[in-house]
Amino acid sequence: MEPVKRTTCSACGCGDLDQFLDLGLSPIADAYTATADEVSPTYPLQVAVCAKCRLVQLLEVVDHETLFGTGYSFYSSASAPLSTYQAAYARDVLARHGDLAARGLVEVGCNDGDLLRHFDPRTSLGVDPSDGPAKAAVERGCEVLVRPFGLAAAHEIRDRRGRQGVVIANHVLAHVADVADVLAGISALLADDGVAMVEVQYLPDLLVNNAFDLVYHEHRNFFSLSSLEQAAGRHDLYIADAELTDRQGGSLRVTLRRFHAGERRIRVEPAVGRIRASETWLDSSGAYEGMQGRAERIRTRLLDLVHQQEGITAVYGAPAKATTLLNFCGLTSRDLTWCVDTTPAKQGRFIPGTGIPIVGPGFMGASSYLLAAWNYARPIMKRNQNRRWIVPFPAPVVF
Ligand SMILES: [Zn+2]
Repeated sequence: MEPVKRTTCSACGCGDLDQFLDLGLSPIADAYTATADEVSPTYPLQVAVCAKCRLVQLLEVVDHETLFGTGYSFYSSASAPLSTYQAAYARDVLARHGDLAARGLVEVGCNDGDLLRHFDPRTSLGVDPSDGPAKAAVERGCEVLVRPFGLAAAHEIRDRRGRQGVVIANHVLAHVADVADVLAGISALLADDGVAMVEVQYLPDLLVNNAFDLVYHEHRNFFSLSSLEQAAGRHDLYIADAELTDRQGGSLRVTLRRFHAGERRIRVEPAVGRIRASETWLDSSGAYEGMQGRAERIRTRLLDLVHQQEGITAVYGAPAKATTLLNFCGLTSRDLTWCVDTTPAKQGRFIPGTGIPIVGPGFMGASSYLLAAWNYARPIMKRNQNRRWIVPFPAPVVF
């Protein structure tokens, strides 16, 4: 199916979208190819900001089947740091909201159950549209509803299991074509005193780090606290608490609660106001305007640095964002001989659009590595000393 170019905002429906970044044509980031010369279909990567609610969003909406069909190879538990994070996250949810979780917990976008398995299977349910990861979650003892989450799925769950005490949606809102439908679903599913715990990548960190590689077709929306607050408010949800974390190059974790009839006053933690106040610069168009020029300058610098290296130069890390970075820069297997990634499912495949083979951690024999997994720079560089590292963001530099 041909992609659809968005003309209205995913959160507020307004038709005033200002494009500020065009990364050209890029393949689906997670669709690792089976051979070096397999041609990957490409689609435009254009980013716009909504003039009304300031939600930053992709203009091109590639259909669900193309994005998350059989080629989808991201399994949460394949990433050891993420698994550790999930275990700690579950302990935190149970410590703070154990009583609510006991009355019903739904995780939207549960993937292979890496987080969900830490909760009582009798009172918890996962929802995920991807067959492969959902099957893996079921094999780990989780109950999963295999379908995209939105208002229709929320009604189905509510009819079968009642309103829920806790809804978790971590790194989900970025991936949906219809933000409004997902927030409407969360609102419909929550008990009056329930909490929704939502984590999203944090747009200000993307802008500050010049991290244009975080833009790929699966990643459709980019949130600040202010834009998330506006989007949630349209569905009777407010941000009761918020916290910034280091996950995925900078993330925002919020607790949403529902406004409901008869409530006299709402309680909002001071952190919400502090973060909101720090975001006033996002109201200016200048926050977005320079992004194109910075991305192009990074491309020029990176190509120079890669070509200056002596001996073999390879890539370290094949996260989705590597596909955007390499394709935007025009880097292929002619420039970078291989790519080391610790995820077994990716090894033996190729980074889309580049012909660069993905190999296991046994291949640390290159003298220089372009660090595509730059958000894990410290542990990766510590584990693999005596190599040169080209770190692309916030501005290219060699260590
Ligand atoms: Zn909007």
